[in-house]
Amino acid sequence: MPERSGRHNLDPHLDRYAARTAGMTASEIRALFAVASRPEVVSLAGGMPNLAALPLDSLSAQMAELIAEDGLVALQYGSAQGIPVLREQICEIMALEGISAHADDVVVTVGSQMGLDMVTRIFCDPGDVVIAEGPSYVGALGSFAAYQAQVVHVAMDDDGLVPEALRDALAQAEKAGRRVKFLYTIPNFHNPAGVTLAVERRAEILAICREHGVLVVEDNPYGLLGFDGQTYPALRSLDPENVVYLGSFSKTFASGLRVGWVLAPHAVREKLVLAAESATLCPPTLNQLVVSRYLATHDWKGQIKTFRENYRERRDAILSALEQHMPAGCSWTRPDGGFYVWVTVPEGVDTKAMLPRAVTARVAYASGTGFYADGFGSRQMRVSYCYPTPERIREGVRRLAGVLESEMDL
Ligand code: PMP
Repeated sequence: MPERSGRHNLDPHLDRYAARTAGMTASEIRALFAVASRPEVVSLAGGMPNLAALPLDSLSAQMAELIAEDGLVALQYGSAQGIPVLREQICEIMALEGISAHADDVVVTVGSQMGLDMVTRIFCDPGDVVIAEGPSYVGALGSFAAYQAQVVHVAMDDDGLVPEALRDALAQAEKAGRRVKFLYTIPNFHNPAGVTLAVERRAEILAICREHGVLVVEDNPYGLLGFDGQTYPALRSLDPENVVYLGSFSKTFASGLRVGWVLAPHAVREKLVLAAESATLCPPTLNQLVVSRYLATHDWKGQIKTFRENYRERRDAILSALEQHMPAGCSWTRPDGGFYVWVTVPEGVDTKAMLPRAVTARVAYASGTGFYADGFGSRQMRVSYCYPTPERIREGVRRLAGVLESEMDL
């Protein structure tokens, strides 16, 4: 009997599932969600954008207007690639990071998560290698696992992905006869590491990928959330023909609308449109029009500035609380944009095993193991400062430090 149909498993459909479902496991973060959402728990676990600053009144008036004036279009199917006017506006947004693109090469997606799924679907056969930073975004690891791609992690330091480590990983994969399909990278305000790829490294990383015939998938949902308003040149701007770029309105506007995009070299774009068609027929027309109108009628840059200020205040709160409370032997990154701090705890502490005790002490975080495909990360954790108030963040870190101290005494 294959192990999959072991007698303890009560799922009567077990023998029917495709082999690829074996890689589909619940993310540790999703499993945590229910517990971490209890009001008495300070959750530093999730990555929910803080939407409190959105102008809800004018948005709701605008949505009503949209239905009244353009309802038969807004509520109808649209093109698989996304509505043209929004794709033009997306090109203007990408220009802020040095990208010069044509709206024809943009495909609107249901969040950039769908972009990740589509890119993996069109490029990866089972067993193909994807290179990703270690740690990496949990949702991307989920997509790679769903298509049975093998992830090889490459080290980062405070300046992001280490070029030498990338070179070594590619050389090793080649030596082992493995096919590397792409490098998946989050250059700005990394999730979960909180670091940014140094500008001096960008051209080098692109050159290494070119040398080895490896495509680059650049995932950039946080690029406009630099706390000093700073932006960095997108990898895509430096090597348009070898970079597929993923963008999103989730962090700069509203995550619930689920509107993101992929910008790809022309030939790749064709395949992406076919993949999108088979997945959803077309992205939601209403949501695309909401985003498009918002961009046309609101001070969206001012809104992003407000978001940035809110996140900066929270980043300051978490860094000063970590400084004040964390026991000796812990270290952490110091993000200058985005949502996350990556913490390393002393040897002997296992962040995954500690989590239930932390929840009992009314604080939650995301254990580092969820951000690696290979079980690494048990001495790491991601703490997010995006959602709670600064007071709650300080209280959460105080509780977390208390749990760590008792753990270290064990
Ligand atoms: N990539 C990264 C690095 C992310 O952090 C997230 C969201 N947490 C996504 C992609 C997915 O975002 P979206 O809401 O656009 O699907």
